[in-house]
Amino acid sequence: MSMRYNSGLDGIKQYVGGKQKKDAQTFFDGEPVKMSSNENPLGVSPTALRFAAESLPESNIYPDGANLELRKGIAALFGIGPQNVIVGNGADEVIYYAAMAVTNDGDEVVIPRITFPIYEIAFRIMRAKIVYSEMKDCYIDLQDVLDKITRRTRVVCICNPNNPTGHALLHDDIYRFIEAVGPDVLILMDEAYSEFADGETFPDTVSRLKEGRENLFITRTFSKIYGLAGFRVGYGIGGRELIERLHRIKLPFNISLAAQHAALGALQDDDFISETLSTTRDGRKLIYAALDKLGLRYIESSTNFIFIDTGKDGDLVADELMKRGVIVRSAKNYGTPTHIRVTVGTKEQNLRFTDALASVLK
Ligand code: PMP
Repeated sequence: MSMRYNSGLDGIKQYVGGKQKKDAQTFFDGEPVKMSSNENPLGVSPTALRFAAESLPESNIYPDGANLELRKGIAALFGIGPQNVIVGNGADEVIYYAAMAVTNDGDEVVIPRITFPIYEIAFRIMRAKIVYSEMKDCYIDLQDVLDKITRRTRVVCICNPNNPTGHALLHDDIYRFIEAVGPDVLILMDEAYSEFADGETFPDTVSRLKEGRENLFITRTFSKIYGLAGFRVGYGIGGRELIERLHRIKLPFNISLAAQHAALGALQDDDFISETLSTTRDGRKLIYAALDKLGLRYIESSTNFIFIDTGKDGDLVADELMKRGVIVRSAKNYGTPTHIRVTVGTKEQNLRFTDALASVLK
């Protein structure tokens, strides 16, 4: 008799994160720049760091398992109650919880072909059937997502702005989409990069939830604009019943004391957020100008990363950049063989990238 495993795992490829500095150090003598995982190039929010440090001596005590103070802090940002918020060990965790909460064997989940891979993993674990929505060029096609919904569909996943393309769907399109999806289908709206998007045209999905669209579950993270990727804090916003059910699944003490305090500090650090935003906006412009000069196609980004068609094999370009001390992500595994995704960095990092790219493509 041999071991039997969860059959949902058979179709899963392990998630592989962006390459690390140590990967580059085997090829490159100097200090490499890591532009592969969309982290904040300015570091950790200083207020977050201070709050976390102050909490450390109390780390012999379990943190508040209900994460209530942090949920209240997040809720206040959106004018909702803490009963509408769950916090997770990264947004990844709440995405897993959502999959666990709504999926039964064989349910269908619609996922755009080119998007963040965690949805597919989480729903496959739950033995869902993944139905891919085809992209229009490299853009999510909301009409195609709607067309893929059947009686068996339980969830549709929309990453807005989308990773790895960086493209944001506009409010009118998203509002129409939300109206068109039946109330029995959960819309997993992943807004991990929303803070980088244009506030004028970006959808206010939380207001739709407040208006009664209880099939919306909106996920966000402290990993990007707040600079807390290493602390691991993300959250989900949804209807009270969904959030209550997610708390039945939640690990009892899923976020460390230090991480909870870091997130509370980050929420107060408006200066850090403005600085991150202006660094990102300036950085996008600098990189666009260099890409224009090289004659490369890219998608205008609403995030802190840019999706670039290098016209050459993406793995090869990423390897060559690595040899020059610049770590980016090849997008070959997303089904876009000639693309790379680069995180917008500081001015100095962006120049290292654009110089290295010009030298690779010469
Ligand atoms: N969603 C998207 C689109 C992401 O890119 C990421 C981070 N790579 C996450 C969710 C998860 O973020 P975290 O778990 O760090 O909060």
